[in-house]
Amino acid sequence: MRRRLVVIGNGMAGARAVEEILARGGSEQFSITMFGDEPYGNYNRIMLSHVLSGEESDADIFLNALSWYRENDIDLHAGVRVDRIDKFTKHVFSSDGRVTPYDVLIIATGSRSHMPPMDGLHTPGGSVKPGVFAFRTIDDTRNMVHHAQQDHHRRAVVIGGGLLGLEAAYGLQSHGIEVDVVHSGGHLMNAQMGPDGGAVLRRSVEALGIRVHTSSRTTAVLGRDRVSGVSLRDREDIACDMVVVAAGIRPNVDLAVLSGLPVERAIVVDDRLRVQDEEDIYAVGECVQHRGEVYGLVAPLWEQAVVLANHVTGADTSSAYLGSRTATKLKVAGVEVASMGLHGPELETDEHIVFSEPSRGVFKSIVVRDNKMVGATLLGDSRKVAYLTQAYDRGLPLPEERIGLMFDLGTPGEDVGIAELDDGAQVCNCNGVSKKALVDTVRGGCNTVAGAMDATRAGKGCGSCKLLVRQVVEWAADGAVEEDPAAGYYVPGIPLDKPGLMAAIRSQGLRSVSAVFSALAPGGAEDAKSKMGLASLLKMMLADQYIDERDARFINDRVHANIQRDGTFSVVPQMKGGVTSVEQLRRIADVAEKHNVPMIKLTGGQRIDLLGIPKEELPQVWADLDMPSGYAYGKSFRTVKTCVGKDFCRYGTGDSTKLGIEIESRFQGIESPAKLKLAVSGCPRNCAESLVKDVGVVAVEGGRWEIYVGGAAGAHIRKGDLLATVGDPEEVKLLTGRFMQYYREQANWLERTYAFVPRVGIEHLRAVIVEDSEGLAQRLDAAMQATVDSYVDPWSERDDPLTPGQFRTSLPLTVLPQVPVR
Ligand SMILES: Cc1cc2nc3c(=O)[nH]c(=O)nc-3n(C[C@H](O)[C@H](O)[C@H](O)COP(=O)(O)OP(=O)(O)OC[C@H]3O[C@@H](n4cnc5c(N)ncnc54)[C@H](O)[C@@H]3O)c2cc1C
Ligand code: SF4
Repeated sequence: MRRRLVVIGNGMAGARAVEEILARGGSEQFSITMFGDEPYGNYNRIMLSHVLSGEESDADIFLNALSWYRENDIDLHAGVRVDRIDKFTKHVFSSDGRVTPYDVLIIATGSRSHMPPMDGLHTPGGSVKPGVFAFRTIDDTRNMVHHAQQDHHRRAVVIGGGLLGLEAAYGLQSHGIEVDVVHSGGHLMNAQMGPDGGAVLRRSVEALGIRVHTSSRTTAVLGRDRVSGVSLRDREDIACDMVVVAAGIRPNVDLAVLSGLPVERAIVVDDRLRVQDEEDIYAVGECVQHRGEVYGLVAPLWEQAVVLANHVTGADTSSAYLGSRTATKLKVAGVEVASMGLHGPELETDEHIVFSEPSRGVFKSIVVRDNKMVGATLLGDSRKVAYLTQAYDRGLPLPEERIGLMFDLGTPGEDVGIAELDDGAQVCNCNGVSKKALVDTVRGGCNTVAGAMDATRAGKGCGSCKLLVRQVVEWAADGAVEEDPAAGYYVPGIPLDKPGLMAAIRSQGLRSVSAVFSALAPGGAEDAKSKMGLASLLKMMLADQYIDERDARFINDRVHANIQRDGTFSVVPQMKGGVTSVEQLRRIADVAEKHNVPMIKLTGGQRIDLLGIPKEELPQVWADLDMPSGYAYGKSFRTVKTCVGKDFCRYGTGDSTKLGIEIESRFQGIESPAKLKLAVSGCPRNCAESLVKDVGVVAVEGGRWEIYVGGAAGAHIRKGDLLATVGDPEEVKLLTGRFMQYYREQANWLERTYAFVPRVGIEHLRAVIVEDSEGLAQRLDAAMQATVDSYVDPWSERDDPLTPGQFRTSLPLTVLPQVPVR
């Protein structure tokens, strides 16, 4: 009979310990139950900084999705807190009223953000004042992003100038928020570096536009019901709409204290990770104090998890954790930082080698004692970090010319450094990938850097180790490393870049997705992931000559509606420029009534969304509406948002509504590599938010129109670049079409204009599109015209489904909670 293993805490340490236990055959020994008070699977907390800055979506940071628990027969209680342990009867009591027995218990409750005492931090009701955030969990991060994106929020104060505070400041800035960092230490990141390094870092951070106040403390959060600023001990108040507290962490030990376990700074464990004086209770991660040390980075907890798993499973009962020497290697606010051991000399006999180049943000400091390296700080250039980490860990002989420690001068170079790295040396701290794991992957036949990263997860955390990963792969492949060829492919299944693929399609006269696969894919093999990209490309190139194959489409494109979480669809009729009529409104209301539409919602693109339509009812809903599709689905031109414009608005100088309607009529439904959202505003007040659209048009004085391209206001925020200022609406339509056609031809699959425009450069776009420097204008205009001419309203398929099953439901519908009617 299997013993019962209970794990409290489903964070990075808890889940990693279970992975290590499973790897040692633990599923045969134990039935495993996990409790985590966050309502999710296990995610990479390190990546929250990237989620905050919008570089990563929160869906992409999960290390173990819920399916992993099911596949490994783990009974996960996500969103359930354990309140008490009865160590005598061996039970845990959780917030859902459950009492769970254990034979072996692991506590991995991590830490929480420390909220330093300050006036006004809480509301009279005791909750944290709206606008104040901690930075610890996915929910904290989502809430911050949401708050930062509300347009009246412009300024934030981050309390704490350590790693987390700087990451928070950097992330908020990418949402267009002005940020001040208030730090009580004399210099930034004082736990990791000395004052000179801190000064160089400060310069790099300030160059990003972040204001830094060191040796300063916040004494109060201002504002009655919500944040309006902070007071500082010895400086003027700073006005702000949000406060992020990143002033250190405190181990979560309440549960352990309440249950009578030994707690000092954290839960006290021995070298086996066993809680002091407890036979069957282990603890791991940030909630642990081992030999007086408490760690706040992931590398030590990977080492702890291995030892713990060896003991719990009996795989190696001699295994011992003797503490970690923490070498921090991170990318903080875009700056590479590596730090280990001492920040500066402590004894008169210590040698201190310093190189500082503040204008480039580079700083290097190394401390040598008795011919051994005892500390190093690297800022802005961490190329020597592998060698230095080894020199620090293993006391390697140092070059006589000490400068060789910092730069490659023929003395221990990078190659020597990699060769000297221990097999077990951790290359990627975030995902705990050792040199050996990478080398084994390469020796197993994978000799591209991207392939080795995919296979091991190395480099997929904070990204600061990518250079080292590359060096290890190159070293292991002994010069035979191959560039990942697929990196340049337009779609993964066809080994051609976009121009090559388009040329082959043209020269071989290919007209359907299946024809492209059989002519150009290796072995003619079809690849599901490539189908949508190919379908879009062919439609763009061939207009009405394209042979449409339904299976090449995503469900949204197959039924011309947007699939929702419960398997129903949303229907959005066209409402050009956001303008409607009594007749249209009445018809929409009638249809909603007839079909019992559970929710009617106005969209951000100024249209009406009918949500909750079952697939089989789509044709009837379209017929009853008798309006064209509004394209709220698919990778295509979607909508033109307009403001009121000059007929009604006191400020309007241009007829934005009329122009918006004309643009929408002309380009409706055209396919593109990613969705296209447009807007036209009648004056620079920009009520239609034209500056953050793929193409945005603004009327300015003198009857002129500015055209902006490459703007975005979603997960990524970017102000568009000015493409041209023209005198006439016809010219706006011409240049808009020409830009869109160029984008359709040149952009990578799924590359939004906010990535495309900076990639190719606005000067280049101006030259090609406005000045016709490459003589392409006529062809681009003609290609766009052909697409416009071939337009057919997809909803006309209602009378004549292309396949018998097109509108037959095949999904089990999930019952969603009722949307509250407010
Ligand atoms: C924004 C951010 C950036 C970071 N960047 C880096 C970095 O670049 N490099 C680095 O090395 N480290 C970094 N860290 C630190 C790293 O994330 C932590 O060291 C690591 O997550 C600690 O793992 P843990 O499992 O001990 O704790 P956690 O990951 O915090 O997991 C503990 C879990 O237990 C849950 N829990 C607590 N009490 C209970 C209870 N009673 N019942 C049930 N569940 C409970 C908690 O809700 C939590 O989900 C970063 C941390 C943050 C927040
Ligand atoms: S953008 Fe100008 S014209 Fe349009 S509604 Fe706003 S103020 Fe009026």
